[in-house]
Amino acid sequence: MTRCLGCRTVSQDCIFCSIVAGDLPASVVAADDTAVAFLDINPLTTGHTLVIPRRHVSDVLSADGATADVSALLESTAALLVERLDADGLNVFQASGAPAGQTVFHLHFHLLPRWADDGLLNVHSIRTQVREDPATTYARLTSGLDLP
Ligand code: AMP
Ligand code: ZN
Repeated sequence: MTRCLGCRTVSQDCIFCSIVAGDLPASVVAADDTAVAFLDINPLTTGHTLVIPRRHVSDVLSADGATADVSALLESTAALLVERLDADGLNVFQASGAPAGQTVFHLHFHLLPRWADDGLLNVHSIRTQVREDPATTYARLTSGLDLP
């Protein structure tokens, strides 16, 4: 059982709560009152960093405002990574739910420093079969909504 610092959230067996509590070592690169940023233990690119809220929420679908907890630190850490590592750009991604590839169920945003010659696939080249006509998708998303 781990008790997060900075909130009263208690989550059993959450490794990221353990990092927030200081019970598990991590290479912390930045932190503020509501969020912590640390190097990913299995980096996809040089400087691959995770930004997490101090309070335990599983993902963006149950975040209850915790995305706002990380936003300032995400921006400042992105700038730190690009500046200190002399990167050419940066990807931000987040997985919510196992089908989306999530393996640690404490909300986290991946920051991936990128270089023009790093050889990593451009995310725009990742494409699946679109399941329906985009006009149908748009109608499902917006029917009954009073859009500005
Ligand atoms: P995801 O698959 O989107 O849930 O990402 C989980 C990430 O957490 C992976 O990139 C792991 O390498 C990373 N990870 C798991 N355990 C640790 C840890 N103890 N310290 C730092 N990163 C970790
Ligand atoms: Zn947690």
